Amino acid sequence: MDAAVLHHPEPTGQRPRLLPVFLPHAGCPAADAARPKGRCLFCDQQAQSGQTRRSLADHLASLARSLDELAGRGGGPVDLGFYGGAFTALPDGWPERFLALAAAYRERGIVGGVRCSTRPDVCDPALLARLRGLGLDMVELGVQSFSAAALAACHRGHGPDAARAGCRAVRSAGLRLGVHLMPGLPGGSVQDLLADADACADLGAEAVRLHPCLVLAGTPLARLRESGGYAPWPLAKALAACGLTTLRLWRAGVRVARLGLAAEDSLLRAILAGPWHPAFGQRARSRALFLHLAGAWQAAGRPRGAFLVPKRHLPDVIGWRRETAPRYARLGLTPRPHDETFFLLPSA
Ligand code: SF4
Repeated sequence: MDAAVLHHPEPTGQRPRLLPVFLPHAGCPAADAARPKGRCLFCDQQAQSGQTRRSLADHLASLARSLDELAGRGGGPVDLGFYGGAFTALPDGWPERFLALAAAYRERGIVGGVRCSTRPDVCDPALLARLRGLGLDMVELGVQSFSAAALAACHRGHGPDAARAGCRAVRSAGLRLGVHLMPGLPGGSVQDLLADADACADLGAEAVRLHPCLVLAGTPLARLRESGGYAPWPLAKALAACGLTTLRLWRAGVRVARLGLAAEDSLLRAILAGPWHPAFGQRARSRALFLHLAGAWQAAGRPRGAFLVPKRHLPDVIGWRRETAPRYARLGLTPRPHDETFFLLPSA
């Protein structure tokens, strides 16, 4: 058999520079006494973002200062990402205020795009259409899972139908869709995670973030773990599951925008248990690439010998602390860098 030419399975595309604006718990039903929903079992937005809760007026003023500073340095364009709460459920008039500020800087070329995160059950089609008209480009939905068991166990306050309806509403409003999934939730399995990846692709998501479930101090999940009602996924299981899921998403043309939570000091202090690792993303990506290449190696008749790798992908092939390299050695492949953009298996 001839040498097989292969390409990296990750969808290509521009990655804009993102300026995250964290609004911890803003718009969250758990922070609103007038709404009947409780706090999601796993959530501590303040630990995740490293930001304390401030008034929305404060956030707006500090965003204006950051953008002025960026403009003064001749920086931009950046995409603004309003994260940490439910942007579409902010008090009346606030989504519009943030978008008006973004639009003013967009006109000056400082802001290139605007995205927000929110919950699927606060995606009113008319509101989304209006926000799109005010400059919103993309909505990242904190779906966490489409599994009925996992959603119920996490006290999300809605089921899979609402999760799907939220995704459809975003796309129907002409907005780009991102989805956040949380592997390893109580009541969730690896099979559920793979089904979630398929659902994201079917519903038209262009990007997915995979944030494995961690047990953070002070959350209801911490109390559940203490009482023996929950055990987080071990790191090895989370890496294997996220590697498989990443490849599934890549093959469906969906970008994996993030794997694992960023190393905020406040997050690291709050983690009681769970699969957090500083190189989680690199390790899971390396596994996804290995699975892809190993499948092609099998289809090519299990050739052995020198395996040519684009220089820029060599770190992903070798893996964090060379952990993936032995897997290629077991297939009889010896990775060698070359200047081309494709991988080349030896002839069988
Ligand atoms: S995950 Fe979102 S909706 Fe749930 S408690 Fe946290 S901020 Fe509120």
